Amino acid sequence: MDLAAAPPSQVLPDALRLRRHLHIAGEWTEPTGADVIDVENPSTAELIGQVPAGTPADVDRAVAAARAAFPGWASTAPAERAGHLDRLHTALAARADDLARTIAVELGAPLKLATRVQVGLPLTVLRDHVALAARPPVEETIGNSLVVREPVGVVGAITPWNYPLHQVMAKLAPALAAGCTVVLKPSELTSLTAYLLFDAVTEAGLPPGVLNLVPGTGPVVGAALAGHPDVDLVSFTGSTATGRQIAKAAAERIARVALELGGKSANVILPDADLATAVKVGVGNALLNSGQTCTAWTRMLVHRDRYDEALDLIATAVAGYRLGDPFDPATRLGPLVSAAQAERVRGYVDRALADGARLVVGGPDAPVPAQGHFVAPTVFADVHPDSALAQEEVFGPVLAVIPFADTDEAVTIANNSSYGLAGAVWSADPDAALAVARRLRTGAVDINGAPFNPLAPFGGYKQSGLGRELGVHGLAEFSELKAIQR
Ligand code: NAD
Repeated sequence: MDLAAAPPSQVLPDALRLRRHLHIAGEWTEPTGADVIDVENPSTAELIGQVPAGTPADVDRAVAAARAAFPGWASTAPAERAGHLDRLHTALAARADDLARTIAVELGAPLKLATRVQVGLPLTVLRDHVALAARPPVEETIGNSLVVREPVGVVGAITPWNYPLHQVMAKLAPALAAGCTVVLKPSELTSLTAYLLFDAVTEAGLPPGVLNLVPGTGPVVGAALAGHPDVDLVSFTGSTATGRQIAKAAAERIARVALELGGKSANVILPDADLATAVKVGVGNALLNSGQTCTAWTRMLVHRDRYDEALDLIATAVAGYRLGDPFDPATRLGPLVSAAQAERVRGYVDRALADGARLVVGGPDAPVPAQGHFVAPTVFADVHPDSALAQEEVFGPVLAVIPFADTDEAVTIANNSSYGLAGAVWSADPDAALAVARRLRTGAVDINGAPFNPLAPFGGYKQSGLGRELGVHGLAEFSELKAIQR
């Protein structure tokens, strides 16, 4: 591994980027296999770290540790569990700078975004779960039944690379708060972030086996976890294709699954909207994290009366997004996470051109930094609602703009998707906006750029997933209901 060529700002200390152990039963422990996974810096395409590639035998050990820890953790008093989460929050917050730098290096997220969103949001989510964990379990009486909630058991958590700490925290925090124990398999592209989290777990002194880490590839460690007979709930975030495989593996033993999958969300801009704001926020949403956001509003639906005006505003907004080194404060867009992801996104751009969409800005010939996996922010107008660009998740900085003639047509186009994760509506009339929001077949809708609420249920309709994360609804995913008649 040659680190000499990497800019000093991007070189993390050896202790943060060369990891050799798994975290099982409260110990840093040797893996059973000798294989490793290289961690790349997508801004430079250089190798910057290494983690072990776990094996099915490692998964067995980790699940056994989580199983052994389950009765004790499940019966720990809520206030005590909350105390553990609070200590984890303290230990994690102390590592906020290292976490942000690590995410900037291994994902390529601009440092400001890495700090505020990639690290700030999961810290908020963990903080929220300290309070949720402290509450006594909700019990209700129905006739002669006492209905109680009990933790579902051992959770296998499998997570993606795009928000490498948040996607993990959205599972770990509620699982622990509910009294479950966990084996985590983070994305092989962003494992270093998970290692930093487990440094915090070690410092916080969680009981052995409550949280376990087995890094590795999806087809080996992920599949072993999803198919493990002693895993009670597989909580997965990632692509719809992988989610389908996980659901099939879990179906063999009727294990519970929670799936947070892909999206192709519509941003509906009604004719009376504040167009400048709607476009500015809409473009920002579509390009956030280089478009690698499951909830990204990747289809902008604009009324025909304001269509040309909107296209001009879009082109101006996109011109302000400077691509470059995540550590340069002027950078607003980093690279895509990998060469494969960049190639995939370029394929969608070529396909959109072949399908007759009109290139507004960006495209295959737009300049990008010479090194790294950069793709220029690209906007297409006149995108056919049935075309690949309007139907498939690109997961890159590519926006499809589609005109509509009236509200009914806008709703029809918005709902013409196999996905249903997020969406937006813009209008000067709050009642009209709400009426459209109610008609969208999607798990979340933001009106006029309303802020993200980390306590609201998060999840998808249709092929965007099963179940919800975050807040009290997310917590409920990690429990079983028991009816006791008396
Ligand atoms: P991915 O499906 O390729 O991988 C996700 C995780 O699953 C990784 O840890 C991977 O190693 C693992 N995996 C891969 N194959 C597996 C298998 N056969 N069995 C078990 N595990 C396996 O997804 P990705 O490329 O890491 O992430 C991008 C996708 O995630 C996008 O589709 C995006 O929309 C989705 N996503 C959804 C949400 C949400 O909350 N709905 C959030 C973020 C990302």
